[in-house]
Amino acid sequence: MNEKRIPQRILLGPGPSDCHPEVLKAMATPLVGHLDPVFLEQMNETMQRLRQVFQTRNPLTLAMSGTGSAGMETVFVNALEPGDRVVIGICGAFGERMVDVASRTGAEVIQVRAPWGKIVDPGQIQEALKSHPRVKAVAVVHAETSTGVLQPLEEIGRFAQNYGALFLVDAVTSLGGVPVPVEEAGIDACYSGTQKCLSAPPGLSPATFSPRFEEALERRKRKVQSWYLDLTMVRQYWGMERFYHHTAPITMMYALHEALGLLLEEGLDSVFRRHLVNGRALQAGLEAMGLKLYADERHRLPQLTSVWIPDGVEDTLVRNRLLHEYGIEIGGGLGEVKGRVWRIGLLGHSSRRRNVLLLLGALEQILR
Ligand code: PLP
Repeated sequence: MNEKRIPQRILLGPGPSDCHPEVLKAMATPLVGHLDPVFLEQMNETMQRLRQVFQTRNPLTLAMSGTGSAGMETVFVNALEPGDRVVIGICGAFGERMVDVASRTGAEVIQVRAPWGKIVDPGQIQEALKSHPRVKAVAVVHAETSTGVLQPLEEIGRFAQNYGALFLVDAVTSLGGVPVPVEEAGIDACYSGTQKCLSAPPGLSPATFSPRFEEALERRKRKVQSWYLDLTMVRQYWGMERFYHHTAPITMMYALHEALGLLLEEGLDSVFRRHLVNGRALQAGLEAMGLKLYADERHRLPQLTSVWIPDGVEDTLVRNRLLHEYGIEIGGGLGEVKGRVWRIGLLGHSSRRRNVLLLLGALEQILR
């Protein structure tokens, strides 16, 4: 057979990140059934590990089958019904995606916009809550992967609570890279993805829901519009009932269990420090090369750096050379900055000093 082998890359784009070798090993574990007591025991452990990483005691903490977008859809279809009102903060492509997903539920979406590269102003969220009665939920993206901006959460969480609205947060790129203090920030629903700072392949969306969110779920007038993502059923598989809902993606669950174990073994504080040190080193190195960073300096993510492509430099040419000559993947721009910025991820296992030096060296050679 003339099989084409997949080459080994260094993944420094906006995700997926390099998978931890121990996670890949865990994925070679023989299958057991999705109702096998050993597997159910491992699920319990995964829930407990997720609570630690999300910094919450929420009983309803689990992993939805599917990528980060499945987590996003889960949150909106369970929180909203036709006629509900939701305020969404938008400062990049994933805020835009939230609007699309939320509006498909039949809810009225009130958009609070900020320029790309900046954060959403919490004061404007408060204004939107003041001027629209009975807002059911407020949603923002914590780490906007399209721009590299970290959205502060606490103030928005307080406003949401003051107005009796649920606080919904996208932590796809933040979980495991910077603190996601679910309880402290008053978050009612938070979802992530396995392929960013958790260093596992794409395929699951860890998520957590507050008791307040569960109460709102009980008060729904209609069934959740998606059968697959209906938390009233999915929680009966993750909970004591252990009712079959759909076949769990067992191998991915092994991966998540292992990835969370590695993260907690390193320690949350050490993990955040590693991301911060490597991220700041990369940003300083890029600036030392004369490149300009895109995201607002006051709100830059350490794990995802966006940088303007210098005048006269062709986006795809540089990215192709990085890929084919150095085996390094970085990301291009999305939406309004497509072709104008590069996005460099130091996510999870990819956040290593040697990767910072490797990328800076390679980029310098190419741009010379
Ligand atoms: N939200 C954010 C902030 C993201 O960065 C992504 C993916 O990059 C998503 C949602 C969607 O996740 P996925 O591509 O895993 O479906």
